[in-house]
Amino acid sequence: MEPVEVRRSPRAKRWRLEVPWGEPARLTAPRRMTRAEIESVLTAYRPWIEEQRSRQVPQLGLDPLEVSESEGRKAARELVTVLADQEAPLLEVAYRRIRIGDQRTLWGSCSRTGTLSFNWRLVLAPLEVADYVVVHELCHLRVHGHSRRFWSLVERHRPGYRDQRSWLREHGPELLAFRPAR
Ligand SMILES: [Zn+2]
Repeated sequence: MEPVEVRRSPRAKRWRLEVPWGEPARLTAPRRMTRAEIESVLTAYRPWIEEQRSRQVPQLGLDPLEVSESEGRKAARELVTVLADQEAPLLEVAYRRIRIGDQRTLWGSCSRTGTLSFNWRLVLAPLEVADYVVVHELCHLRVHGHSRRFWSLVERHRPGYRDQRSWLREHGPELLAFRPAR
């Protein structure tokens, strides 16, 4: 039976249970939650934890020895820059700079000042997925937030974007959990 890490959080209003890829399951508990309440949640959710875990079957064939983080970051910067420079003029936007990061949950983001940030692991995703993430962030330079207007702009430039979004939904957690061996 998999052990569950219990973390106390003074800010948590209610408990939250997570089963992240490649990391121990963890329960974040509000300070006032008793040990007995914690135990009963863990007992009740044991089957759920096991079900989450059983779905986490590696499918991407990622090899932690194949790439180091610094190689990955360098390759990601090159790829993302090429993709952004191709698309920016078509969208009639200009970005200020590109930042490559090691985000735990995000693929990309766009600041108000025009800095685009991307997860270096995008370089390990299929090219059209990386392309979609770049175009998505560039579209934010025209429309902030995820309004209908935003999605129709994305669709105009990448009519097949829903396939890339489903790829990220299905395989994103495995890719985000990837940690190179060096
Ligand atoms: Zn967005």
